[in-house]
Amino acid sequence: MTPQDSIFLLASRFAERGDWTLEQQFILQMGSSYLLAHGIGTPLAGDAVTTFDVREEGDYTLLVRTKNWIRPWSDGPAPGIFQVVIDGRADAETFGSGPDDRWYWQKGGKHHLTAGEHRIALHDLTGFDGRCDALILTRTEEVPDDSLETYRAIREALLGVEPVEDLGPFDLVVVGGGIAGECAAVSAARLGAKVALLQDRYVLGGNNSSEVRVGLGGRINLPPYGALGYMLNEIGPEYGGNARGAHRYEDARKMRVVEAEPNVTLLLGCCVVGAEMDGDRIVAVEAVDAATQRRIRVTGRLFSDCTGDASLAVMAGAETMSGRESRSAFGESLAPEVADDLHMGGSIEWYCEDHNVPSTFPDTVDWGLFLDETTVEPVHRANWYWEVGMRYDPISEAEKMRDYGMYVAYSTFSYCKNRYSAKEDWECTELVWVSHVIGKRESRRIVGDHVLTQGDILKRVPYEDGSASLSWNIDQHLPKPKNSKDFPGHEWLSDGHLTPVTPYAIPYRCFYSKDVRNLFMAGRDISVTHIALGSTRVMRTCGMIGEVVGMAASLCTKHGVWPRDIYTTRLEELKALMRKGAGRTDVQYNQFYTLIDNTAKQIESI
Ligand SMILES: Cc1cc2nc3c(=O)[nH]c(=O)nc-3n(C[C@H](O)[C@H](O)[C@H](O)COP(=O)(O)OP(=O)(O)OC[C@H]3O[C@@H](n4cnc5c(N)ncnc54)[C@H](O)[C@@H]3O)c2cc1C
Repeated sequence: MTPQDSIFLLASRFAERGDWTLEQQFILQMGSSYLLAHGIGTPLAGDAVTTFDVREEGDYTLLVRTKNWIRPWSDGPAPGIFQVVIDGRADAETFGSGPDDRWYWQKGGKHHLTAGEHRIALHDLTGFDGRCDALILTRTEEVPDDSLETYRAIREALLGVEPVEDLGPFDLVVVGGGIAGECAAVSAARLGAKVALLQDRYVLGGNNSSEVRVGLGGRINLPPYGALGYMLNEIGPEYGGNARGAHRYEDARKMRVVEAEPNVTLLLGCCVVGAEMDGDRIVAVEAVDAATQRRIRVTGRLFSDCTGDASLAVMAGAETMSGRESRSAFGESLAPEVADDLHMGGSIEWYCEDHNVPSTFPDTVDWGLFLDETTVEPVHRANWYWEVGMRYDPISEAEKMRDYGMYVAYSTFSYCKNRYSAKEDWECTELVWVSHVIGKRESRRIVGDHVLTQGDILKRVPYEDGSASLSWNIDQHLPKPKNSKDFPGHEWLSDGHLTPVTPYAIPYRCFYSKDVRNLFMAGRDISVTHIALGSTRVMRTCGMIGEVVGMAASLCTKHGVWPRDIYTTRLEELKALMRKGAGRTDVQYNQFYTLIDNTAKQIESI
């Protein structure tokens, strides 16, 4: 295919998206952002529409890059289907109905197109998450193979090589705008560093944003550095709880705190896809704009991986850990005898509301999860223990993990509404919100100069570089045994196993890579074992870790040194900053909820 005989259209660049949702969570896996028909079972009213120019009149074959997302669990009819309408006439093919769950080129019909402008639309048929990344109109008979390499090559051949916009240099480049990344950026900026904060979504807060809706947990303002945590209080919402109304997560508050910092350049919708190295140092990151898919290059002296997934560290060649370490690897009695790939899963949060008028929901019996009276979980809201993908690869199978979370949500609600023995109780219940963003607990952890272990935490081993304090019980999630029996390999419910802790100061050496000289990390991807992550992963702790990383980055900037040097030669200066804190103390204190871990109770509302 060449630009002379073929036209390439990216769905994310359509002039109008209508009611389709821009989806950019899986750029690293499938190579693009795409449009998603997330209508929660109601076909989208608004089509995504754009125009395109045809240079030469002729018969053009339509090819659509799409995916049948239910295939891993069902051979039934594809629920996520849509039409492509060209100049008002729908192609005869229904898209999204492929034989497996790969992203693939589905062939449509031939369209006679005259030279000049034409209109093309994506018309959703079901509201069940049909998806479209790209379309080709070609006068050739070629259908590209489905590999990512071929996709990238064809896209470049037909769209050309995009120019790269250069930004920087910055003192610190923070990748990932969850709670940890936001605190790292603001802390460094307040202490004089020039910071870029790249966040692949359009809101800040990661799992605590209104997109994922997980409440903050853990304690702040703990000894030995009681001033750490006021920054979290600035950005943290007033209310806790999972899967509640969007307003309770206060996206605007998180945005205001960053926007008030003149030293922070906030780059929203920018997904980091590559690292440029000079020996053992990162010199720049390359990012893709989710909407336009144009590229930017951001240079800096220091970097912080706050992606949760350790994505930047892997791009830079740093060592990471994943899965469960063996009991003997770090002398942890809570660890399994033999190492394995099991990890804590992700969650798709959802909830329904009771109204005073009856409503309907499609019966998913032909394609949904097989449920009966003994396996259904008839609740009105997902909570933390609705946990999927504990046996899926949390990086390469992230989209499958997200899709399974939605699959379980739709199947459960549909069962309660249409087939449950007590379905009359559900007559006026409506499924009002299902997140399409997977909240993850665990994927990869970056190896630092110290790896925090169960022994450190439970024996409270004192280290001179002890910094932010953890406080959450060691909270291990395992598949719920009955759910494992009912859905082997594809569990969707978990149990929490708690080991009590006393607040403990995490060594600073867990916050920088042992391999990449200028790489910090903050959040759930710090240097800890799987067991220790059971405590460190909660967001108030992640926020304080970010605050410390920002302080260390400011010292590296001031003295022209690297993260490790702060431990070896400048620890007293870091301690002085930690004693002061980088947060404001004149903001009303509101962090009173979910201070301790009560998840093992599997309560539905906290
Ligand atoms: C259902 C559920 C319940 C939980 N319960 C609690 C609880 O009660 N209390 C609690 O405190 N914690 C809880 N957790 C754990 C907690 O939410 C996570 O451990 C925490 O969010 C980790 O914070 P983080 O900043 O490291 O990562 P995240 O919150 O995941 O933020 C990382 C951010 O980086 C962005 N990003 C990722 N890759 C890139 C890239 N390549 N380029 C640019 N940006 C990128 C992501 O979009 C994201 O916004 C729960 C988690 C789940 C899923």
